[in-house]
Order: sequence, then C-alpha cells, then structure tokens
Amino acid sequence: MTDRFLIAGAGLGGSLAAALLARAGHQVHVYERRADPRRGPVDAGRSINLAISARGLFALGRIGCADQVLGMGVPLYGRLIHSPTGSLTYQAYGTGKQCINSVPRAALNQLLVESAEAAGARIEFGRRSHDVDLIEGTLTTVDNRTGEDSRTVAGAIIGADGAYSSVRAAMQRREWFDYSQDYLEHGYKELEIPPGPNGTHRLEPNALHIWPRGGYMMMAMANQNGSFTVTLYMRIGGERGFASLATPADVLRFFERDFPDAIPLIPELTDDFFTHPTGSLLTIRSHPWHVDGKAVLLGDAAHAIVPFYGQGANAAFEDGVALLEAIDAHPGQLGRAFERYEAIRKPNTDAIADLAIANFHEMRDHVASPFFLAKKRLQKLLHALVPRWFIPLYPMISFSTIPYAEAKARAERQERVLKAIGIGFAVVLCAVGALLLL
Ligand code: FAD
Repeated sequence: MTDRFLIAGAGLGGSLAAALLARAGHQVHVYERRADPRRGPVDAGRSINLAISARGLFALGRIGCADQVLGMGVPLYGRLIHSPTGSLTYQAYGTGKQCINSVPRAALNQLLVESAEAAGARIEFGRRSHDVDLIEGTLTTVDNRTGEDSRTVAGAIIGADGAYSSVRAAMQRREWFDYSQDYLEHGYKELEIPPGPNGTHRLEPNALHIWPRGGYMMMAMANQNGSFTVTLYMRIGGERGFASLATPADVLRFFERDFPDAIPLIPELTDDFFTHPTGSLLTIRSHPWHVDGKAVLLGDAAHAIVPFYGQGANAAFEDGVALLEAIDAHPGQLGRAFERYEAIRKPNTDAIADLAIANFHEMRDHVASPFFLAKKRLQKLLHALVPRWFIPLYPMISFSTIPYAEAKARAERQERVLKAIGIGFAVVLCAVGALLLL
C-alpha cells in the first residue's frame, strides 16, 4: 500500500527521506523554503563541509548514492593536533583504512535533491511551510516570491525542516509535548585556508586538523579543490569570547598567541572574521515525535545536536531509513509505524546528543594531554588483543552502525574495565615500590 507524504524541508534529511520513500513507491511532495540549490549558490546557513561516516554512507547506499558521495569527499584517517608552538601530533581514528569523509554540504544536498526527483518525488522550492493543522492533516505553505498561500491535504506530514521546525512548532502547541532547547555557550565562525599553488593543499589533507586551546578550539577539514574550511569554536560572550575580539588588531593578537601557525594560511583572516556570521550551537530534545499517523519529525527537527561528533546529518540519514523500515513493517498503519520509528530512534538520538557534548570537551580540553594519549593507546591495544570484546567508542560511532545507545552503554562498560586496569596497575606499582623500600 502506498501513502501520500508531504515533507517540509529538502535539506539533507528531508531529501534523503524523500528519495527513500519515493523509491519505495510512495507519493512524495516536498516543500523547501530556500531556492533550488541546483540553480546557483544557496545560503546553506551551516557548515560548508561536513563529515559523513559509516551510518550516513549506509543510508546513502540505500538510494544508490554512497559511491558518488565518497567521490566528492576527502577521506580523513585521523586527527592532527596543532600545539601552540606549532608542533604536530597525529592520532589515527581507527585501524587501516577506517576514515570519515569531508564532503561539501551544498553538493551533497544537490545530489540528494536530484535523487529524490529521479525517484519520483516532487519538490517545490521557494515555498515555506508556515501552518500545520495536525487534526485535519494539512500543510499550508507560502510562496516566497508572490506571498501566495496554498493549503495541501496530506496522507501524512514529515517535519524535516530543521532545528526551528514549523511542524514541531505545531506539535509544541499540543498538550503533553515535551521540548527542551539548550544553547551551548560557544558559537562558531568559519574561515578559509585557500588552495596552495596548482590547487594543492597547504596542510595534510587526509586528517582533521585540531588546535585545542582549553576553553576554545579551531578545526579544519580539507575540500577537494585544495582549500580547507576552518571552524573556530569559542564562547559567544565573555573575556575569551567572540565579543572580546572587536577589532582586526584584537583578532591578530589572539591568533598570534593561540594559533600562530594558522596566520600565514588564512590570508583573509580579519576580513573573514568580521564578514562571516557567528553561528550558534544547540541541542534540541522533543517527545513525542509524531501525532497519530498524521505527522512525524525527522533529523534536526526532532533532535538537533552539537556538531562535535560529526553525526547530526548521519543521524538524520539513519532516521530516514528507520522511518521507511517502520512504514514497511506496518502497511496501512502509519500511526503504529511512527510509534515504532520513534521507539527505535529516540534512545539513540538522545545518546548521540550526550556523546556530542562530551566530545566537545574531549576535543578542546583533552586531545593533547599525555593521559588522554596513553588511554587511547591502551584502548587500541585492547582492541587489537580482543577485537570483538573491546571496541573504542569513536570507531563504534563513526565506523559502525551499532545503534548509538548500544555503543554508548558498551563504551561505559569498557570505561569501567579501563579504570579497573588502571587501578590494578597503580596497586602493582605501589606494591613494587613498597617492596623496594623494605
Ligand atoms: P537541515 O539540514 O537544517 O535542513 C532543513 C531544511 O528545511 C533546510 O533546507 C531549510 O531551508 C528547510 N526549512 C526550514 N524551515 C522550513 C519551512 N518552514 N518550510 C520549508 N522548508 C523549511 N553533521 C554531520 O553529520 N557531520 C558533520 O560534520 C556536521 N558538521 C556540522 C557543523 C556545524 C557547524 C553545524 C551547525 C552542523 C553540523 N552537522 C554535521 C549537523 C548537520 O548539519 C545537521 O544535523 C543536518 O543538516 C540535519 O539535517 P536536517 O535535514 O534535519 O536539517
């Protein structure tokens, strides 16, 4: 049995879900408030490139796009840590060829839009969803150019319209809807390292560059054209925040002290700093994600997370696959399908939301510490000795499709084992020390 879905939002999650549903034979009609990304640059509003890993690739494989996405990306096999003195330390992410992929957001979105249309989905650009009637099951959209309203009756509405979702806003007006929105104190600003001579990369391209500096940090990921997208994460306000850097001289002084090796690489540093917007970062949790069989949320609309595990889009893609599988498992019963989808996904997206915040602290505060490096080495050793029993958290999240909640629980158990090994080691050292003193 086929259903008629109206999807609000043709971003990453919405267009992948549209492609999946259309390929499964459902009627799909998508409304996107922005212009068609294939007709010229569209303000993506977010990061220029993003890391796509195993979960995203698995979902992209379901619409036959995984290889194309890999073809447009740059593989990153580990982290390259830049110390304040400019020395570099490399930490491989996993074993052998395991990598995450730095992929241009705009090209990825265009590919997904094309796949959705090729599968039979109809996408209308420049139409913003602004009123959702969850009782009648209707979506009202407004044409950006003419201001004309149009109301469409849906089989079901899918809210894939991002962190400030119009579909979720309608759900929030109902009783028993739980919602939380937590802004991080930190925001982000994107800067650019342009390509070197003949389109070469001016830093190692196959690593995620990190400049950890305690309360703030900078990251850079390569693009295929030889450039790097640099993201500076720091507090919005306060003494060491964006607001404290009010003049080009302030910015230069700050970079000279904290990121001196980056200054020659970013020729437009002060221009970029003052012309590029400062983005905010937030975690959104909501429940329930659906209203009977009438409407359901997906991606950031249901669960926006901070970007420090590089998993927001990957999770939105996994949502699409889980939604389709739940619909397939409950033909003609969208209410039950949406309930099942949420039951499967919600614990997992809650888990990755927590892990993403924890990874922020790890990246900015710990990656350079000797204790952290020793712990990583011990984790790798245990993984090499007992690969089925011990898998470090990062590979479980980035290189497997083990559900996020299961990966998190397993990592907590493994952490307890590591602690026990550490305590055991300390006891042996003390005992040996005591014997030597006798
Ligand atoms: P979006 O991509 O936000 O798409 C929503 C779409 O809905 C947009 O096209 C928007 O125009 C449209 N829309 C909004 N309102 C309406 C409306 N009323 N009517 C119609 N259309 C509407 N994730 C990763 O996996 N890896 C990364 O490395 C990564 N890096 C990131 C770096 C930064 C700085 C940030 C901020 C995020 C990053 N993310 C990353 C997260 C990722 O960008 C999001 O999780 C992902 O884009 C979510 O997809 P989505 O389709 O749910 O929402």
